[in-house]
Amino acid sequence: MYSSVLSGVLYGLKAEIVRVEVDVGNGIPSFEMSGFLSNEVKEARERVRVAIRNSGYELPPQRIVVNISPADIRKCGTGFDLPIALAILSANGYIDEVNVDNMIILGELSLDGSINGVSGVLPCVCEAKKSGISKALIPVSNYNEGRIVEKVNIIPTNSLKMAVQYINNGIIENQRQDNPEQCRTTDKQEINYADICGQEAAKRATMIAVAGMHNIMYIGPPGSGKTMMAKRIPSIMPDMTFDEKLAVTNIYSVAGQLGEYGGLVEDRPFRAPYHNVTKSSFFGGGMFPRPGEITLAGKGVLFLDEMTEFKPEILEGLRQPLEDKDITIVRMGRTYTYPADFMLVGAMNPCKCGYYPDRSRCNCSEQDIKRYIGKISMPLWDRFDMCIKTDEIGYEQIRCSSDNGNVPDSESMKQAVMRARLAQLKRFNGMNIKYNSQMSTGDMKRFCRLGEEEEKLIKRIFAKKRLTARGYSKILKTARTIADIDGNVNITTANISEAFYYRGIPEVTIH
Ligand SMILES: [Zn+2]
Repeated sequence: MYSSVLSGVLYGLKAEIVRVEVDVGNGIPSFEMSGFLSNEVKEARERVRVAIRNSGYELPPQRIVVNISPADIRKCGTGFDLPIALAILSANGYIDEVNVDNMIILGELSLDGSINGVSGVLPCVCEAKKSGISKALIPVSNYNEGRIVEKVNIIPTNSLKMAVQYINNGIIENQRQDNPEQCRTTDKQEINYADICGQEAAKRATMIAVAGMHNIMYIGPPGSGKTMMAKRIPSIMPDMTFDEKLAVTNIYSVAGQLGEYGGLVEDRPFRAPYHNVTKSSFFGGGMFPRPGEITLAGKGVLFLDEMTEFKPEILEGLRQPLEDKDITIVRMGRTYTYPADFMLVGAMNPCKCGYYPDRSRCNCSEQDIKRYIGKISMPLWDRFDMCIKTDEIGYEQIRCSSDNGNVPDSESMKQAVMRARLAQLKRFNGMNIKYNSQMSTGDMKRFCRLGEEEEKLIKRIFAKKRLTARGYSKILKTARTIADIDGNVNITTANISEAFYYRGIPEVTIH
């Protein structure tokens, strides 16, 4: 007896529909599987056999052949357990096959016949919809994810038995009717720049950085609030559009990181990998290729705390994705390209001990400091348009926490960001760039015209500080964003002076 059902397989961030075919017949009892399968998929054999028995279905001794087609796509993951089990039951007459042709089936089986969630449900259901499939039988724990896709009937199931009952009778017990608003977890802490007293300069620099999507580095002693500052960046970024949310959710779905609620990701990502992160979890890859931190940070922030502690291969590897906004990984002869469109935020101490230039506490020699800062190579420094010193939080600033009246909060900062974003939207209308930080030399000539006074000032700075061409363009781009925040049509001398203050490299390496 032959039977087949439909399922989905991931390829990068996309999915393809595959057909799971089963043939059962007389012969020496065996269980064979073919169709370019990873070991993970082949292991389904044992799980499926035991799960079927423990769900109360009797299978006679028989020769079982499973094939997953098309054969040119490598099949990974554990989501084929359920379709394989259902196809076997169908070939044995437990299921009426007619009903499963318009349905995609995904799920991992436990030995007791219960169904576990799998990764990549969202792209699979999206692809099913494109292929004209109108139903998706998926694990209960993936329910909120599956139903993001409109016009596909999502059938959540938590056991093999329940899945069989649904296919035969069209009913599902205990179908979840959760209201998405009710079951969304509220573990997200509301964080706000109003929580940070003092550090006005760092706050303003952060606001400018977000407005023009400039990568920013915080340099300051331990306890100066660098992490607090970085963590709050998503609170002043514009809200994501639905398409952006969908793209982010898709990435988290493939990575298996949607969390307990498992539905649409509403907030911009903030990723802060630890400095001992492996290359494959940072850039993506692994046996079964998954997106890494740089992709998970997409549309949001990648924060590298204690940046000098990261391995050189991680830091240097960042340059290409920062330039191209994506990363290409080759695994087993196949190429996977993941997006890597994030704002880079770094934090580091000013020297090894952390207290330079406070010479009462810092004994580091100039050489030591240069070596320490030199852990970030010049080409990587060049990717930071802005660099801001954070100061230790003093007694005065702690005291002001009782009176937050004049402290800039996330709402007002976000408004300034939106104002500057609107100016950029108009400026780059019809072009393939969106932010001031993305301007080419030609774009800068066109959009950063300087008056006589401004020209004089920047020439003076250029000569006196021995700026490189890179340094010059960073100042100009940042000045353009400051002008946008302040509502100036043209860049002013004040905008240039302020941008110079944020130029992206510590003084000590220049001299
Ligand atoms: Zn020191």
